[in-house]
Amino acid sequence: MQREYSLIINGKQVAGGRGTFDVINPATEEVVSACPYATVEQLNDAVDAADEAFKTWQYSSDEERKQALHRIADGIEANAAELAEVIVKEQGKPMFLAQAEVGGAVAWTRYTADLEIPVEVLEDSDNKRIELHRKPLGVVGSITPWNWPLMIAVWHIMPALRTGNTVVCKPSGLTPLNTIMLAEIISKEVPAGVMNLVTGESGIGSAITGHEKIRKIVFTGSTPTGQAIMRNAAGNLKRLTLELGGNDAGIILPDADVNAIAEGIFQTAFLNMGQTCAALKRLYVHDSQYDQVCEKLVELANAQTVGDGMAEGTTFGPVQNKDQFDLVKELVDDAKANGADVLCGGQPLDGKGFFYPPTIVANVTDDMRIVAEEQFGPTLPVIRYSDVDEAVERANNCDVGLGGSVWSSDIEGAQKIAQRLECGTAWINGHAEVLPHAPFGGCKMSGFGVEFGQEGLLEYTVPQTLNINK
Ligand code: NAD
Repeated sequence: MQREYSLIINGKQVAGGRGTFDVINPATEEVVSACPYATVEQLNDAVDAADEAFKTWQYSSDEERKQALHRIADGIEANAAELAEVIVKEQGKPMFLAQAEVGGAVAWTRYTADLEIPVEVLEDSDNKRIELHRKPLGVVGSITPWNWPLMIAVWHIMPALRTGNTVVCKPSGLTPLNTIMLAEIISKEVPAGVMNLVTGESGIGSAITGHEKIRKIVFTGSTPTGQAIMRNAAGNLKRLTLELGGNDAGIILPDADVNAIAEGIFQTAFLNMGQTCAALKRLYVHDSQYDQVCEKLVELANAQTVGDGMAEGTTFGPVQNKDQFDLVKELVDDAKANGADVLCGGQPLDGKGFFYPPTIVANVTDDMRIVAEEQFGPTLPVIRYSDVDEAVERANNCDVGLGGSVWSSDIEGAQKIAQRLECGTAWINGHAEVLPHAPFGGCKMSGFGVEFGQEGLLEYTVPQTLNINK
């Protein structure tokens, strides 16, 4: 039987005041389910409920909140199979990747549960003691994208709850169903009003970012939306964590062992069909290895099984939505028209679904759109260089700076190069790996603030200095 999806406001499941909209399966173009569409009045109700719940939740004990997060992790685990299936159907990724997303959501929730909120003693002298405490902010608005919808919702919501804030979440209208399930799981474990969820498109999004009772916005999505949010959030000086787009460069140094690194490069460039914020999106390769690298990547691309994520054996799913699919096609076609060589893929598959095979594009230049713009899809431009300093300069010649990588057999030498990259995370012989204990965020127009680890946790707090005269 088809399950129903509702908004969650003040601990209750509520139908959308504007009716419903359809969520589409990108592999079949069929409707997965109807999703409730909230009105702005319902958003206001959700914020009021969160504001009211904050009055007591902020004083809940540390232990109470830790235990609540562990129970939520248990709930995600208990619903893992259904969550993974819903993710495959609405997001498109293959089942093994959806299962990994659910597993990651559990691990992140447990890790966040066990983080400590520190009290720092800054002075303890005969007549004075100064302590630095961290207090929750109030209502946190969470706005999520469609690429890793469950994982990113967990990244936003768990640290907010752990530190004593209340939440109003708005998932992407393209992949809202798994996040509704998550909100149901969470709201069973916390008092009414602590966790709220509304769905709807940008009208609801901008109502959240402008709302006077919301104290912080945590946003993961594109840079233009991040800019709109920052403008809209100025009214009451909301705190912001903005995890925005990237156009990550990877540089293969001439000493690298191509056979050893090729698989790692392929997997991190095409992770989630390339729809990963910190995927490798521009690959710089030295003249001496250019042909060998291209050949290896083509071999790996051709070994993929493209298909519906629900089908056994699928390793590579569709692009999540028609707009993104059209953009990938447009960027590859533009590269072709400007003289690049498409070594494999390069054409959508016939039939239903937004299927675009993994596509390696060679002999590209930095000014081609496929290099200069974030593709956020299954294509990788391979760019030739002859001098390492020049490669670093070209990698940095970009408005965004989320991640970057250097691939080499000489770790020390690679580290020197990696530290020159203008990005929030620099990997050596890897890319796109995020971990619950390693702060992650961008520089330049990839946003600001970090998630994960203690530094990420503290972004959901405001410092209060306690100055005690003994
Ligand atoms: P998007 O910016 O189009 O949408 C993200 C969310 O913002 C959705 O929920 C959308 O409904 C909402 N939204 C749209 N307009 C809004 C407005 N004016 N005010 C408030 N909310 C609004 O992004 P997307 O297409 O869903 O995601 C892809 C982008 O996200 C890529 O650029 C990718 O690099 C980026 N991303 C970044 C990270 C990171 O950690 N830095 C992680 C994942 C994705």
